[in-house]
Amino acid sequence: MTKPGLHRDPEWLRRKYWDEGLSALEMGVLCGVHPDTVRWNMRYCGIPSRTLAEAAIVAIPKHTGKNNHFYGKKHTEHTKSLMSRPRKVKRKNLMIEDRIFRSIIFKSKRWHMTDETKRKLIDANTGRPGYWTGKTIPQKTRDKIAAKMSGRKSSTWNGGSSYLPYPPSWTSELKRLIRKRDGRCMICGTTERRLGVHHIDYDKNNTNPQNLLALCSVCHGWTNHNRNYWRCFCEKVVRQTKSTPAFQDDRLLREIGGTE
Ligand SMILES: [Zn+2]
Repeated sequence: MTKPGLHRDPEWLRRKYWDEGLSALEMGVLCGVHPDTVRWNMRYCGIPSRTLAEAAIVAIPKHTGKNNHFYGKKHTEHTKSLMSRPRKVKRKNLMIEDRIFRSIIFKSKRWHMTDETKRKLIDANTGRPGYWTGKTIPQKTRDKIAAKMSGRKSSTWNGGSSYLPYPPSWTSELKRLIRKRDGRCMICGTTERRLGVHHIDYDKNNTNPQNLLALCSVCHGWTNHNRNYWRCFCEKVVRQTKSTPAFQDDRLLREIGGTE
C-alpha cells in the first residue's frame, strides 16, 4: 500500500533512512515515487546521505547469505562471459535500480495519475525552488573545474584542432551565404537561435559549400561529441536537401564561389 506525500516529510525521511536503514529505492517504493525524487527531497530537507562505507554496513546484512536473492543459484556461462566485460558500474547500478522501481511501481495504481492529481501536483510544485535556484558555482570552483576538464584533459580532445588556423577562404561573407542558403538550423529547424556554420567532415580547410551546414548553437554543441554519428547524420541532411531550390540556386552558389 502506498502512502502519497510521505517523501516530502523530513521527519519520515530521516526516520526511514537513518533509523531504519532503508535505501532510497525502498523508500521510493513505500511512497510510490522514484528513488531520485526521494534523494532530491532529502537534499532539499538537508538530510545527509550515507557515505559509501556507511552504505556498505547497512547493505551487508540485507544482502548476504539467505537474504541474498541469488542464494543457492548459479550464473550460466553466458552470463559469466557478460559479467567479465568492463562496464560503467555506477550507471549500470542506477539502471538496475530504475528497472526494479518500475517493475514494482508500474503494477500499483499510483503510477497512473488522474488529471486532477496532475493538476494538484502542478499547483503544489509551482514556485517551489529547484536545487539550483538562487545558487551559483563560485568563480574559484569554475576555474578548478576548467583546469581539470579543459584542453588535453577533455574527453573530446582531438589533438588540438581548435588551435589550428582557418584558411583564407573561411570568411564572414561565406558564413553569411551559408546561413542564407539554409535559413534555419539544419538539425532542429529552429530560426530562433543564432546560427553558426558547421564543417560536416570536421576539416577546417574544407570550405566547399557542400561541406558546410548552418546549425544553431545548441545543435552545434551536440556535434562535438559522437563525431562519426553526426558526420553521417549531416551527410544525410545534405543528401536530402541537395535538390531543394536553395541548394540549387546558381546565383547563390556563384556568390559562394564554389560548386562541386
Ligand atoms: Zn538546432
